[in-house]
Amino acid sequence: MNKIKYGFTTLIFLFSAVVFAQDQEAEKTKEPGHLNQSKFKQLYEEFSTPNSYRSASGAPGHAYYQQQANYVMDIELDDKNHRISGSETITYINNSPDDLEFLWIQLDQNIREKDSKAKLKNGGGVPMAEQASAFAGKYMAEPFEGGFIIEEVKDASGKPLAHTINFTMMRIDLPKPLKSKEQVSFSIKWNYNIPNHTVNRARSGYEEFADGNRAYVIAQFFPRMAVYNDVEGWQNHQFWGNGEFALTFGDYEVNITVPADHILDATGTLQNRKEVYSKEMIKRYEKAKKSYDKPVLIVTQDEAVEAAKGFSEKKKTWKFKAKNVRDYGFATSRRFIWDMQAVKVGNKDVMAVSLYPKEGNPLWEEYSTKAVAHTLKSYSSHTFDYPYPKAISVHAKNQGMEYPMICWNYGRPNEDGTYSDRVKYGMISVIIHEVGHNFFPMIVNSDERQWGWMDEGLDTFMQYMAEQEFGELYPEAVAPNSAYPSRRGAPAKIVPYMAGDQSTISPIMSNPENVYQLGPNAYAKPATALNILRETIMGRELFDHAFKTYAQRWMFKHPTPEDFFRTMEDASAVDLDYYWRGWFYTTDYVDIGVKGIKKYYVTDKPSKKMLEYMEARNLTTADLPPLVYLADEDAEDFDSNLKGKAPSESSMTLKEYMMDNMTEAERKAVKEPKYFYEISYESPGGIPMPIIVEYTYADGSTENITYPAEVWRKNSEEVKMVMSSQKELTNIVIDPKLETADIDTTNNSWPKKEQESDFDQFKEKIKG
Ligand SMILES: [Zn+2]
Repeated sequence: MNKIKYGFTTLIFLFSAVVFAQDQEAEKTKEPGHLNQSKFKQLYEEFSTPNSYRSASGAPGHAYYQQQANYVMDIELDDKNHRISGSETITYINNSPDDLEFLWIQLDQNIREKDSKAKLKNGGGVPMAEQASAFAGKYMAEPFEGGFIIEEVKDASGKPLAHTINFTMMRIDLPKPLKSKEQVSFSIKWNYNIPNHTVNRARSGYEEFADGNRAYVIAQFFPRMAVYNDVEGWQNHQFWGNGEFALTFGDYEVNITVPADHILDATGTLQNRKEVYSKEMIKRYEKAKKSYDKPVLIVTQDEAVEAAKGFSEKKKTWKFKAKNVRDYGFATSRRFIWDMQAVKVGNKDVMAVSLYPKEGNPLWEEYSTKAVAHTLKSYSSHTFDYPYPKAISVHAKNQGMEYPMICWNYGRPNEDGTYSDRVKYGMISVIIHEVGHNFFPMIVNSDERQWGWMDEGLDTFMQYMAEQEFGELYPEAVAPNSAYPSRRGAPAKIVPYMAGDQSTISPIMSNPENVYQLGPNAYAKPATALNILRETIMGRELFDHAFKTYAQRWMFKHPTPEDFFRTMEDASAVDLDYYWRGWFYTTDYVDIGVKGIKKYYVTDKPSKKMLEYMEARNLTTADLPPLVYLADEDAEDFDSNLKGKAPSESSMTLKEYMMDNMTEAERKAVKEPKYFYEISYESPGGIPMPIIVEYTYADGSTENITYPAEVWRKNSEEVKMVMSSQKELTNIVIDPKLETADIDTTNNSWPKKEQESDFDQFKEKIKG
């Protein structure tokens, strides 16, 4: 019966709507039309169309392929002249369905050529302040003579291969195209001057100590294959300095010759330990392999100090093999202290390793290897078991850079060995971060040159979790009763950036070279977005499963942003288009406020306004089932007798309905509310987020309700939520635990909290 009546009312309503529209047209007040601007709109325009290489689920497609590049290299370090030279043979395997007429090789060192264009790329004018080292490097130093000298490029039979160098890229023209599923071998001989990375601000190079010794951290040091894939073709975007690397997986055999009194460690498994270790070192190494709780020194501080006094003219060659890595790095010096311990990851042992000059102590002997071991365990638990045999943390002044199995980290105590908390936490955090990069992007091998956030953002998010876990595992390392002081990840920390000047912020989905502040853009904001997604939007169980699915689907493969976005939905059944759009594709921010609150009472005596409402819709009460009305307390004709009465006391219709339709037992079981509120929430920020509300009632009790972000689907600016209650509402607070990175909390409460002005606070201060 009700159905028929409702159908009828709908019809009447539609009819009246048409008349209404005609009236408006006559007055020409109709607003112009608009495109679909909903944040909840499907992301089809932003996403590329799924295909056989990359499926709509976010997993690799059935035709997914990736190229492989295997390297055999002989490298020699000339410590006296700080030069490095090498010869390498690359075997490139074309797994793509395409024939390739040329190959692209990356020559990253060319960014340090004397007349490099990279120095001329910045058009930002005079900076107000600059670090002394950067200033000196830019305006006072002789330009450094860096860059690769390519001595020869030859095919497998030793014949020269035609090649063209364009800045940081080299094209090798093949005499005949490399067919799909075939491979080609060629060799390159090269050398370059190693920069002093503490002066020339480089990602690798050497630091020179007062005693004339140097500590080398060497990376991007050999011509490397560019990536060829289904997304970019050849990924041959130039290296301008900010956009990091896109690299092909492969197997490496590397022999590195250094002065005989040097210590060295590198990507891969050492093949000739007996030739390069002393007998004592081998004994200590055997002990370290069984030490799971603390590191064992392989080279002590005394031994390192002693070694630094000499300068051997003899040479030693360290031989390594590495399987399925996307890059290669090594560190060497006669000043290094060296410690190691074993870590159980899944069912196998991994070595956690640290190399540091004495300048790093006492901080480094205490925390470095501990942080490495913790990172491997923490990250493995959220992704996949760390697959490599070791992870090395090298102390290099001002550095924070990552390579497979090895990374460089800052954090140096004062000369007298004292250090601040800032230095200590900075050091532990950078080690967690850089070791963590083994997972993203060394193994989940995204294109860093295009998408900084895919490695930095994911890694910073994982770093935040690992730091918090570190604080719980080692409470003695943090201040009493405190959590680990993470610099990035907590929602409130991103507020200054997201509230900042729109002309200097970019969406996360930007190329790193186009971004003003890479730190907040590619590290902190995506890390925070993921943290909020985990804690507030999806919940840990759904998020962790989806995140792990992404890591495992793309382990040892090349994912794109869509592969990540799609997988997170695919494995969770949480519709996230609005979240990716708001947080990743725009510079919108979160600002949700309580706009107003209205109190209503139940009546069956309609006011004039209610009758007008009905009339405008061609409705008469005769057409409808009996109605109850809600009277607005602030309306002029509000009947004050209604105040504080339960609905059945105020409305005969409701009472009759209950008598006719409910048994006595049912009537007893229902709770009749006394108060009705309509609360308006506004979202001037633009990112739809759940409205997390704490309601407080007159008796002091509280109730927490989270309205899902979907509440903003039909109106992104304002929504009106209805609350019925037996108790009077006295207070409303939005986002009481600061979970959403709301940039303006002055509109988060009702009644509005009077914010003390700075001047009032100042007056209070001088009074006190
Ligand atoms: Zn990083």
